[in-house]
Amino acid sequence: TSYQADSKRYDNMKYNRTGKSGVRLPAISLGLWHNFGFVDDLKNGRDILRTAFDLGITHLDFANNYGPPPGSAEENFGTIFKQDFKPYRDELFIATKAGYTMWPGPYGDFGSRKYLISSLDQSLKRMGLDYVDVFYHHRPDPDTPLQETMGALADIVRQGKALYVGISNYGPEDTQKAAKLLKGLNVPFILHQARYSMFDRWVEDGLLDTLENHGVGCIAFSPLAQGMLTDKYLKGIPENSRAGNDSVFLNAEMVYSHIEKIKNLNAMAQERGQKLSQMAIAWILRQKQVASVLVGVSSANQLKENVKGLDCLNFSEGELNLIDKIVS
Ligand code: NDP
Repeated sequence: TSYQADSKRYDNMKYNRTGKSGVRLPAISLGLWHNFGFVDDLKNGRDILRTAFDLGITHLDFANNYGPPPGSAEENFGTIFKQDFKPYRDELFIATKAGYTMWPGPYGDFGSRKYLISSLDQSLKRMGLDYVDVFYHHRPDPDTPLQETMGALADIVRQGKALYVGISNYGPEDTQKAAKLLKGLNVPFILHQARYSMFDRWVEDGLLDTLENHGVGCIAFSPLAQGMLTDKYLKGIPENSRAGNDSVFLNAEMVYSHIEKIKNLNAMAQERGQKLSQMAIAWILRQKQVASVLVGVSSANQLKENVKGLDCLNFSEGELNLIDKIVS
């Protein structure tokens, strides 16, 4: 069946400016790391994408390696894009990345110019796009000169293959160096993508300040700590969950080591009249440098629930202190 986007899609979503750029991103963006590979149900993926766009979620986040197998999330998106979203291309802000292992040999990993430029060409083919809105270097490369990596990002922009650039997983010092290089190259560096949740607060230790100094926005990934900051693990590990699916990224041991905190946070969210997932997202959005919270979902309903949480974003000082105490 053909897709007609909801005419009210922009009525309720909040949009935040990213850094000092001209770009506004939805307070919640959709990440396609999980649940969009060839191993997954494409019908469910299509349902999630349509629901996202109908909710005003204009920003979609990919990387070359998302799947499994690597590349398949982009390829599935290409299929759905052609069917449903082609008329809406200019209403979408699409990101992809390169930096982790993508193909064998010395040119399919890390941060060389060779890798970044050829990887983006592959991504564009898989997605059936002429350009992406933002292209990221996915992780710092200790061995390639930053100048080469940032120079590749600059040329990608000049070639018209990306409108803006970003970096991900860079610490504050490397971020500062990257920002200086990109400024010298006159390249619009608008986003830093970093892991940030109540269970992982490393960005508060210098990164957010650095981003603010350079007018760069932060987009927070794994805001729900991959599902731990929801009510799904309160009574054990459900079979059809990331931890229940023997993920290499989240397992039962990780969940159990956090369970006391999860229970306390869940009780607190209930008192606020919210789901834990909603409180976890709101808590990240309290930081002015954070333009968007990048969630993953395995169903359209999860996404609806997360977006509904934007109705209650405020925290009292007492609540913030209590969260600090629970998670410390
Ligand atoms: P989250 O912390 O949002 O975890 C997503 C998982 O949480 C879902 O798959 C689902 O788990 C569960 N979940 C979400 N909403 C609900 C809900 N309302 N109720 C119950 N459970 C819920 O983020 P991800 O770790 O998936 O990361 C998000 C995105 O960030 C990725 O898709 C990717 O785009 C980006 N990312 C970037 C990285 C980088 O290096 N730059 C690294 C990692 C992620 P379940 O499947 O069990 O239902």
